[in-house]
Amino acid sequence: MKKIQMVDLKGQYESIKDTVNASIQEVLDNTAYINGPQVHKFQKDLEEYLDVKHVIPCANGTDALQIAMMGLGLQPGDEVITADFTFAATVEVIALLQLTPVLVDVDTDTFNISVEAIKKAITPKTKAIVPVHLFGQAANMEEILELAKEYNLYVIEDNAQAIGANYKFANGSKKKAGVIGHVASTSFFPSKNLGAYGDGGAIFTNDDALAHTLRGIVNHGMYVRYHHDVVGVNSRLDSVQAAVLNVKLPHLDAYNKARQEAANKYSMAFAGHAKIVTPVVKGDADSHVFHQYTLRILDADRDGLMQHLLDKGIPCAIYYPIPLHSQKAYLDARYKEEDFPVTNQLVKEVLSLPMHTELDDEQIAFITESVIEFLNK
Ligand SMILES: *Cc1c(COP(=O)(O)O)cnc(C)c1O
Repeated sequence: MKKIQMVDLKGQYESIKDTVNASIQEVLDNTAYINGPQVHKFQKDLEEYLDVKHVIPCANGTDALQIAMMGLGLQPGDEVITADFTFAATVEVIALLQLTPVLVDVDTDTFNISVEAIKKAITPKTKAIVPVHLFGQAANMEEILELAKEYNLYVIEDNAQAIGANYKFANGSKKKAGVIGHVASTSFFPSKNLGAYGDGGAIFTNDDALAHTLRGIVNHGMYVRYHHDVVGVNSRLDSVQAAVLNVKLPHLDAYNKARQEAANKYSMAFAGHAKIVTPVVKGDADSHVFHQYTLRILDADRDGLMQHLLDKGIPCAIYYPIPLHSQKAYLDARYKEEDFPVTNQLVKEVLSLPMHTELDDEQIAFITESVIEFLNK
């Protein structure tokens, strides 16, 4: 059996090596390292893939979120509601801009931000909601958009984990995750579903005026060369990363399909097991792109299971082990433990198994048998 990886970047590279190498070589040959033709091509192709008017490439997914919030003109003291159960980048940029993060609980089934919890957290100071499409599946965007409309709030999608996922509305229509709210951010960190070979990120929006503002912010607040109209940042996708992404974007649907197939095999093997809750997919099969395949382990020694798997050479991880509201950097006297029953429970139950485009049946069988072996002991 091939050695099992949490994310098999090498295996995937081997399958596209010649094209990637040629694409990178082109950048080296034409030396347009910054804002080269590769970056423009990637921007256009991603706009077409997502069916969105504007993609603004930038340096990473954290910058993308920060720049989106800057572009919306959010001011210090404005409250921004986001999920307690996510990667810290989301809350970090809110705090960095001196906005007030308001963390709320998530839903047990999807792990995504709870609409009920958002409702309870809205105050006259609330200006935006940041749903995180966690582990590859969009949050409940339809109800979030309704709330946003009612209270006049911006919706900023953190789409770092769900690029390519479809979101299905009640009327059956579909949109790609990341083009549903006012603006969205994504990340091309190597392990993400559309990963570069270094850092990268992008912002998406259908709003022409906002797109113009964002294009200036990523470039030192410049709209006319050496005229700085607003305080900006330096955040660019470099041409070498765009050259890699140009090769990978046409494969994204196939990559996501491979993840979905691996997820199905895992879930079939675990079906009906009393101690395992497999991921819940809302909508159709194309609505979850399995950035992570995350189980809930009930009434069992989750940490013991993790050690058992590691001992057998099966990488696995806990995303995320500590709720954001309990992190030292984000403590706030307003938070009460009873406001976060789901997150507080999930951090004790979740376990993410290896998930990538190169998993084979032998590996999946070994992983699922090893999980069940421990839980049936
Ligand atoms: C990866 C990730 C980010 C940050 O992306 P970087 O490119 O690493 O800055 C933000 N939010 C979520 C949910 C992520 O998973």
